[in-house]
Parts: sequence; C-alpha cells; structure tokens
Amino acid sequence: MFNKIDHLGIAVKDLKQALGFYQDVLGLEYLGTEVVEEQKVTVAMLAVGESKVELLEPTSEDSPIAKTIEKRGEGVAHVAFEVDDIEAALKKLKDSGVRLIDEVPRIGAGGVKIAFVHPRSTNGVLVELCEKH
Ligand code: ZN
Repeated sequence: MFNKIDHLGIAVKDLKQALGFYQDVLGLEYLGTEVVEEQKVTVAMLAVGESKVELLEPTSEDSPIAKTIEKRGEGVAHVAFEVDDIEAALKKLKDSGVRLIDEVPRIGAGGVKIAFVHPRSTNGVLVELCEKH
C-alpha cells in the first residue's frame, strides 16, 4: 500500500537562499515552484532519484509553516509517502485507530491528492500521504 517516500517537506524562511543550497550546491534537479494558497506556502520541488525534496516557504505569518518555523526553526516539516489509493489508505489507518489530521484528502502541490496523519500516531513525525499520479 505504501510505495516509497515521495518527498521530504522542508520548512525554509527564504526559498531563494534554500535553492542556492539544494539546487546549486547539491545539484538536485529543479522541477518548479508554485503557490499553494490553501496552505499559505510557496513550494519548490526538486528531484533526487525517485524521490523529491519539497521546500516550503510561508507566504504569510499565519501560515502553518510560519508557525512551525517559529516553534522549531527551519528543518524537516513532514515525510510524504506515496500510496496507490489514498481513500483506502486513510480508511485502513482510521480503522486501526490512527489519528488523522485529514479524514478526507485535499489537493496539494501539483494537484495531487494528499492527507496528513497526526504526529501523535506516528512517533512524532508529521506524515503526509500522497496519491500516485
Ligand atoms: Zn509535502
């Protein structure tokens, strides 16, 4: 049901500065940038093998990512797993007593169906599920 780690979400204060490292120094392949209004973030995607790195810069002070940076500083914000069928995955987790942030998928960067699982159920990691596309 879980295929691979699709991407790591990394909270950054300054996307340009972060790209200077991940793109220019590490040489990861830049895939594009988009604003996800609903989550108040600007997202830059970079490819690394079969997985991706997602750099998340808040677009406003009340963005959830802004709050994450305020509380814990920059760093890994979430780990995203690719699943074939996100509704089936959510049902299975819910039936297993796992605490979900999103019981119904929402649309994330790239128009992909995503849902978050509460860190309290995942040993402290904010887990994102994203449907294969
Ligand atoms: Zn993500």
